Amino acid sequence: MSNGVEEVQRWPLHPQPQTGEALTSWLRRIGNLYGISNIVQLVSELHPDGAGSDLDRDIPDAAARMLAARSTVALDRLRQMSLSGWVPWLLDSTDPAECDFDTYVHQLSVLIPPHLARDDRSRRAPTEPGWLPWVTDTPNTRVCPVCIGAGNADTVISVKLIWQLSLVTSCPEHRCRLEPCHVVPGQIVFWDRSVCALGEDLRPTPVHSTVTALDRRTTAALAEGSVLLPRARVHAGLWFRMLRTLIDEICIPLGKAGTYARDLRLIWECAGDRPPRALTRPFEYLNRADQSRILAGAAAAITLIEEGTITAAGTHGALLSPYPADAVFAGTPFPRSAPAPTSHADTASSAWERLPALIDTVVAAARENIDTARSLHAFILLGAHTDQQIRKIDDTFNELGIDVGNPDR
Ligand SMILES: [Zn+2]
Repeated sequence: MSNGVEEVQRWPLHPQPQTGEALTSWLRRIGNLYGISNIVQLVSELHPDGAGSDLDRDIPDAAARMLAARSTVALDRLRQMSLSGWVPWLLDSTDPAECDFDTYVHQLSVLIPPHLARDDRSRRAPTEPGWLPWVTDTPNTRVCPVCIGAGNADTVISVKLIWQLSLVTSCPEHRCRLEPCHVVPGQIVFWDRSVCALGEDLRPTPVHSTVTALDRRTTAALAEGSVLLPRARVHAGLWFRMLRTLIDEICIPLGKAGTYARDLRLIWECAGDRPPRALTRPFEYLNRADQSRILAGAAAAITLIEEGTITAAGTHGALLSPYPADAVFAGTPFPRSAPAPTSHADTASSAWERLPALIDTVVAAARENIDTARSLHAFILLGAHTDQQIRKIDDTFNELGIDVGNPDR
């Protein structure tokens, strides 16, 4: 063993994953090289735990270690090619039994005060088990036609994990709509002309700048672990939950929204018609077209809040609100002879920006050193007041791979 990865013979050929590529896309490209068309068969030959899994949703740990050993891809990067690698930031668990709709969608509030339209929430809650945030089962893959190299023979044909979720509707880099298709990774794309907006010339469909701005933040959250909002840089976990909460709030019927009906009306005047099904179904169970319209509504709402046109009255709405014009001291200019500062001033803003990296550093140190792990554990327990809160902290430490040993020793 070395670095937790078993020493096994490496594949002689193993293409590197593309940025953000889904695990099955990468494995299918490897399978092409060895003439193995069945991706489950490929992984099950590596480790029996991999057989039968939805590998883009959950990669068994033993199978992930074997794949890391067979290739030169780091274990952490490999895990993040599957949805399970984003627990608990993007979702609480990939097991629907451990992913509570009400906790995910309603523990925050953004646009609407939390007490308003409380009775209406159940109309958009899933009625059967199986719900996971941002996960939609559809037969089609969605891709950016430019990223996937439509019409360009030199581009590696691969599928990003984020394209398959309901988180985004566009490619922020190329500012165009994601298009439905069938993809054979590494080989060919079949465009579904019945639902695809691409013409014969494969010209991408541009999207509104508000949608691109929203998708850029969400993409950054997945890539960098945090998002810069008007008042602070926030952790990706908070951003995904704020966005899902806002989506539910803009689907409240006008008659239930009280004085906030005016804001909802303005949002939908900017974004277009609100799909009627969105009032009574979970966002994840809508079709792709309706999801796109709802995300356009969320993008319009965020823009209107940030412009100060409407006021976000939820508990976390202030994070999206602009600073009052008279709240920021303009500062005193440096005298001409003063040397320029060489590092960040220690302001609250820069401290917020450093916070995600600091947390990652502390977690990494705690994984390596049990004394550090116990110090961190004891510090966080200061904020726990019930057995349930203590158990939640212990579970989180387990999920993060931090061993505190026997705390009574
Ligand atoms: Zn693109």
